[in-house]
Amino acid sequence: MDDERIVSSLTIEDDESEVTLRPRCMADYVGQDKIKKNLEIFISAAKARGEALDHVLLYGPPGLGKTTLAHVIANELGAQIRVTSGPAIERPADLAAILTNLEKGDILFIDEIHRLNRSIEEVLYPAMEDYSLDIVSGKGPMARSIRIPLKKFTLIGATTRAGMLSSPLRDRFGMLMRLEMYTPAELGRIIRRSANILGVSIDADAAEEIARRSRGTPRVANRLLRRVRDFAQVEGLSVIPLDVTRKALAHLDVDELGLDIVDRTVLEAVIDKFGGGPVGLDTLAAATGEEATTIEDVVEPFLIQLGFLGRTPRGRVCTENAYKHLGKTPPAAGKGAVVQTSLFDED
Ligand code: ADP
Repeated sequence: MDDERIVSSLTIEDDESEVTLRPRCMADYVGQDKIKKNLEIFISAAKARGEALDHVLLYGPPGLGKTTLAHVIANELGAQIRVTSGPAIERPADLAAILTNLEKGDILFIDEIHRLNRSIEEVLYPAMEDYSLDIVSGKGPMARSIRIPLKKFTLIGATTRAGMLSSPLRDRFGMLMRLEMYTPAELGRIIRRSANILGVSIDADAAEEIARRSRGTPRVANRLLRRVRDFAQVEGLSVIPLDVTRKALAHLDVDELGLDIVDRTVLEAVIDKFGGGPVGLDTLAAATGEEATTIEDVVEPFLIQLGFLGRTPRGRVCTENAYKHLGKTPPAAGKGAVVQTSLFDED
């Protein structure tokens, strides 16, 4: 269901042309300044020593630029990048084949790395630590372990859930980098850059309006820009103005904070069906018809960021601000209001 949402942070078919919008070098990669600064130092040190960069784990909600950053790193290193994902690697032998084909200094990017199964993960441990593969041949007392050396490569893992990674795997990354949601000013820069690439002009206030409603997520910003551009085009306009932008976003059912029907359904369920919470994730999923993982990875991070939803040990809770945003009366003091909790399950 989430893939039909205009504000979904997951990739949808419509985003395919985004490839051209992907920044290729650090200078074009907007925001995430702390990460960029650190990476620039590590990249130039690795280049100066002629060594492979240490393994990097990128984590944070979908659409924040993990894949893009992996490509930027490869580009800045002048290295080749091989792209795969946790669910695509089905057997240890698949991963062994990928690893033995890597050249010195290559980047291996594994998206959704938390979805690798344990037996495959175990192939990664010696590969990451000693650049070698341990292959066991034969069975029982005849079993022999053969060590095959690998070229020195860099693993870049991406995950929406750092907390779901086993600690032996997490500990083997030299750098753990958490991507933050983007500020409206940063999203504004991304939108103006994308408009430029798409060959359309957009008024400054219109770009700001899209930025404010993009849930802190570049993927959503680029998608809304494309849809708004369609509206302007139909009206025969060469520059996208604010009024058409507002009209288009209203038509797409994206409200002034960037919430859509799915967000509102989740908030309304917590408020109307569970008295504001706490309500467990699975119960909430059943009540809204959404997958629990979709709520957790895609819907919730932004609602928590807005301060509309909180995670407590007993479940999800709506805050007073959520009631107000939906035009509902908050319950008497002490009920329904929560302290903001962590965006990510770190452990
Ligand atoms: P993730 O891998 O975290 O799901 P992606 O790297 O696929 O996210 O990013 C989604 C899209 O958002 C990219 O295609 C790119 O166009 C845009 N994007 C992401 N991060 C940035 C950034 N820092 N600057 C400019 N555009 C970005």
